[in-house]
Amino acid sequence: MEQSIESYIKNLVRDVIGQSLGELQLQSDRQTYVIANWKMNKNLNETAEFFQKINSSQDVSVVICPPAQLLYPAHLLIKQSGKPIGLGGQNVHWADKGAYTGESSGSMLRDVGCEYVIIGHSERRQYSYEDDELVNKKVLHAIKSELTPIICIGETLGQKNALQTEQVLVKQLEGALKDIDSSHFILAYEPVWAIGTGQSATAELAQQIHAYIRSILKKIIGEKADGISILYGGSANEHNAADFSAMPDIDGVLVGGASLNAQSFDGIINVFAKGEQNS
Ligand code: PEP
Repeated sequence: MEQSIESYIKNLVRDVIGQSLGELQLQSDRQTYVIANWKMNKNLNETAEFFQKINSSQDVSVVICPPAQLLYPAHLLIKQSGKPIGLGGQNVHWADKGAYTGESSGSMLRDVGCEYVIIGHSERRQYSYEDDELVNKKVLHAIKSELTPIICIGETLGQKNALQTEQVLVKQLEGALKDIDSSHFILAYEPVWAIGTGQSATAELAQQIHAYIRSILKKIIGEKADGISILYGGSANEHNAADFSAMPDIDGVLVGGASLNAQSFDGIINVFAKGEQNS
């Protein structure tokens, strides 16, 4: 109870400060992120090898989201490396504690070194039947736990072909952000048809959709929408990263497959770091 009052006050203070700075917040102030979603991949040895090889950068926020079992070892490896890398979970439960076999709460993620958590990934929507209501409960819980949620939204191929992309995104956004009075979250636009297929969206299409997402976000949270980082996800790699990084509403990438290889992931980090140096 004491802890939830404390985090409520902390969030309130962060939001009041954020609000008063809001008017000064320009597009270029948005944080750029390169985030790895390892999904159900890698063991301890491979994790140690990855953190040894990865170079990282001071110019962009790099976050690695390993499977739950690798979070604490990854935390120790990051600390040991001294590299500026953040840690995130791939999922969180909505309750503080209790009889929820196999789940992890926000405070448990914090405890093992996480500052971020992916919520609403399309694979969880597909295989674990997570809907917008559940995504919203998890986002509320993550914010209360002082984790930054990385909220994933995106249409399926069927929805795209049926010209329902905008309506799907509005529903997912409104659903995920219901009763959220904080602007401490990251959005990831991940068209389901581009995830793991090798067929990324073109940077132009992604930019168009990101601008649309920001316009909807403005209706939901007002001017603070200008300060929210919107990442692209879906077959992003070291070869197409430069196209995405050149777009004004694309504030980084969420990377699956290409994040498993330290060299490829470094390539993506370098592209976005260069973009930041030039801006
Ligand atoms: C993802 O699953 O979040 C993702 C973007 O995967 P990939 O990069 O492999 O398409």
